[in-house]
Amino acid sequence: MKVLVGITCGFDDERNMYYLRPGYWESVEMAGGIPIILPPVDSPEGINHYLEICDGYILSGGDDIDPFYWGQDPEPGLGKIDPRRDRFEISLVQAIIKRDKPALFICRGIQVLNVALGGTLVQDLCSGIAHRQRAPRHHPFHDILLEKDSVLYRLLCQGTVRVNSFHHQAIAGLAPGLIATARARDGVIEAVEYPAKRFILGVQWHPEAMQDELSSRLFQGLVYAAAKKYN
Ligand code: MN
Repeated sequence: MKVLVGITCGFDDERNMYYLRPGYWESVEMAGGIPIILPPVDSPEGINHYLEICDGYILSGGDDIDPFYWGQDPEPGLGKIDPRRDRFEISLVQAIIKRDKPALFICRGIQVLNVALGGTLVQDLCSGIAHRQRAPRHHPFHDILLEKDSVLYRLLCQGTVRVNSFHHQAIAGLAPGLIATARARDGVIEAVEYPAKRFILGVQWHPEAMQDELSSRLFQGLVYAAAKKYN
């Protein structure tokens, strides 16, 4: 029995092309799943069909989210936004949560998860730790401190993990239902979970780019949860 994992993607408007870095589908395949890319659809029928065919989901990294969704005007540090992707992913996240489907939310993904459930973001981070590394993508760049009572800790079995970092936005106010399960030393939230759901794990770093054994456990956790179809 193979597990189908739907992965959202970005859109490059200059080249007029969808894109997804290979680490996402390679990580899914290495964990025993079958990856499939989900381009944005606007209709509820389209989203429902994605929900029918996939066993698990990955919300992938990408550009900024329109602060319209948490009731703010754009600040000067806000980056590029893609209204179609925002619209699609926010609807997709709400459907995933409603139907309790297993999902892993990576970088932009953790931010979409939080916003879709009523949380807020910092538009342009400025804190004591650098979160935008200028180093190879796989390079572990800053530490995160894990909460012991968490899915993340059970997967990684370490209280401190050094991860890569490519974000300038971060969670400000946590959405109802979510809990923070890892933070950087500056307090920035680096992982969230939804304890009332089967497997909802958001990470602010890029495990698909780290190419190490620890990161592969996050994808294994997703595929394992997605293989257990109880609804
Ligand atoms: Mn970071």
